Amino acid sequence: MAEDIPYDKNLDLAPGRVDEPMPGVRRILCNNPSPFTFKGTVSYIVGRGRVAIIDPGPEDAAHGAALLDAVRGETVTHIFVTHTHRDHSPGVPAIKRATGAQVLAEGPHRASRALHVGEGPRLDASNDTDFKPDRALADGEVVHGDGWTIEAVTTPGHTANHMAFAFKEANVLFSGDHVMAWSTPVVAPPDGSMGDYMASLQKLSKRGEPTYFPGHGPAVRNAPRFVAAYILHRKAREASIVNRLAKDGESDIPALVQAIYVGLDPRLTRAAGMSVLAHLEELVARGTVATDGQASIAGRYRLGG
Ligand SMILES: [Zn+2]
Repeated sequence: MAEDIPYDKNLDLAPGRVDEPMPGVRRILCNNPSPFTFKGTVSYIVGRGRVAIIDPGPEDAAHGAALLDAVRGETVTHIFVTHTHRDHSPGVPAIKRATGAQVLAEGPHRASRALHVGEGPRLDASNDTDFKPDRALADGEVVHGDGWTIEAVTTPGHTANHMAFAFKEANVLFSGDHVMAWSTPVVAPPDGSMGDYMASLQKLSKRGEPTYFPGHGPAVRNAPRFVAAYILHRKAREASIVNRLAKDGESDIPALVQAIYVGLDPRLTRAAGMSVLAHLEELVARGTVATDGQASIAGRYRLGG
């Protein structure tokens, strides 16, 4: 695997403790580490006095209490949600109950495309299908708080409803799981879409924010260059799939994962398979790769045309 992305895995933050990486941005780490969440979900507090919370995190009593503790004496007016994976949104009801804040997001969970025959829900039921925002935000919509302004930026790909939030006064972007400093996100069909994900990266590459605050791990510094590296990384991954098929003639997803992901954490094998499927769906749609019927996790693949 090409180590072409300038990863940063230094997050000096203990679970439940609040820090302030820049004026007007506080963050708290939830104690839910895993191969998918790194050290855990990072929730953010925007502003001072009358504040917004971004991504309350999983349903986790200790984390919910730590968040409420961090804003004691203040008023939470808004709760923003980047997407509906279980490590980001199930913490919403408890915070909403305690604060009466309005919940804003792109929309409820949905797949990026229709399910294929025989296709079940993806990775260990990671979706929060109960989530419903009080207010659905469209791309570019602006929300005015007390001393802060948030612009909604639709960024589908990791999920169909993924949304990043630009904090205008601070010139930073809360990037959710779309762009993270510690890793690339899982893009797993049918909830994820590689075509959407690449388009969302291109969209961010035209923005100016130098710093992103992601849903996991430390801040992304020099964000425009980082996003460019992300785009190159996915293009290289796509090229290695095409090269492999050119060499082997025909192959399947387990063989491609083994050939392409050298030194992969075994717990991530299935997720890697889903990412390869996401690339293959895109390549089949473009006619570069052929398969019998629809692209599927069990399919066999060869070069098309
Ligand atoms: Zn996620």
